[in-house]
Amino acid sequence: MNAPQSPNHAVASSRFEAPGATACPACGSDRTRSFYRCADVPVHSCLLVDDQQTALDFPRGELDLAFCTGCGFVYNQLFDPSHNAYSSDYEETQGFSPLFREFIKDLAERWVQRYDLAGKKVVEIGCGKGEFLAEMVRAGVASGIGVDPGVHPERIDDDVANRLTWVKGFFPEDFPLIDADAVICRHTLEHIAPVADWMRTVRESIGERTDTVVLFELPDVSRVLEEGAFWDVYYEHCTYFTAGSLARLFRRTGFEIVDQWTAYDDQYLIIEARPATPGAEDAAEGDDENAATGSAADRFAAAHAEMIGRWRTRLQTVAAQGGSSVIWGSGSKGVAFLAALGDDAALVTAAVDINPFKHGKYMAGSGHRIIAPKELTEFQPDLVIAMNSAYLEEIGSDLDALGLRPSLEAV
Ligand SMILES: [Zn+2]
Repeated sequence: MNAPQSPNHAVASSRFEAPGATACPACGSDRTRSFYRCADVPVHSCLLVDDQQTALDFPRGELDLAFCTGCGFVYNQLFDPSHNAYSSDYEETQGFSPLFREFIKDLAERWVQRYDLAGKKVVEIGCGKGEFLAEMVRAGVASGIGVDPGVHPERIDDDVANRLTWVKGFFPEDFPLIDADAVICRHTLEHIAPVADWMRTVRESIGERTDTVVLFELPDVSRVLEEGAFWDVYYEHCTYFTAGSLARLFRRTGFEIVDQWTAYDDQYLIIEARPATPGAEDAAEGDDENAATGSAADRFAAAHAEMIGRWRTRLQTVAAQGGSSVIWGSGSKGVAFLAALGDDAALVTAAVDINPFKHGKYMAGSGHRIIAPKELTEFQPDLVIAMNSAYLEEIGSDLDALGLRPSLEAV
């Protein structure tokens, strides 16, 4: 299992420097160790690229994943924030998937009910295209402010548009004060390198309003490490959390945790918190989980190599039989999957995506063309590889509707 193409909401801050090569950006400890390196990784996965040559020439960066034995945090210690080019050309939305729409609708309703947000005001940092804020309004909030360099207000439905305002920019530079009943931040923290500094800024921005509820969602790295899920490790994600390391960061930066759970087939961590006074941390806290994360990190390189080998063999077998293969999902996971295959990426004919804004564009790095599902009828693929197992059923229905019966397999 693996996370869906994360919304990757495009908020990173230029205000902070990259972390040092030794100190953990989450807890400051120097007890960190590198466990996986990879060069030539496209620095962006979701920027739309109009022509194949530009896609092939896309800027590359380097991964050097490190694990902190002090707090369990995982991060790319070679991450260079100067590669950030988030803009309105950043196409990260999963909003075209019925399954995803259902998920965000349920989550919005849960949060409005549980935290009594009906008639209240919410702020979303890293709101992406604004679909989630729209669901919060439908679930009952009175108004919302969305902050993101990639906002597209014209895509918001008329029924909620007049309740929402947009700040096309970054937190905290373009939106320093949070005066709201709830702060939402979904699939954004994993793009922030100096995580502790940034969380302290969130805390400072809330100020005296200790009734403000803080609601975060981000990928869970535990299974990524266990399973060698190479499609879930990419340049834009410079930070990776387990439930334990996320909770420790929140406590350390001035929050108390109200609840923590996993969602979307356990692919996402959800944390619900409130501002608190920073307290002394129990040094022994989380040692068992840290040890498990550390040993999974140490096995990651081998698991990663085995997983890549398995997919290479699968693609070679299809090609040897005269068949063709495509991937389904052209977002970050697709970019990472094709990059990891190296020369064997040529055995993949195209990348399918249901987002019409992506059709006719090209994948950063590998240069694969992004096509609409209906184009599959032209070359009748034998193998369709879903970049997210959560969407298998949805993709199966789409293929049925097109009269296609390829082998459908998930990473
Ligand atoms: Zn640490």
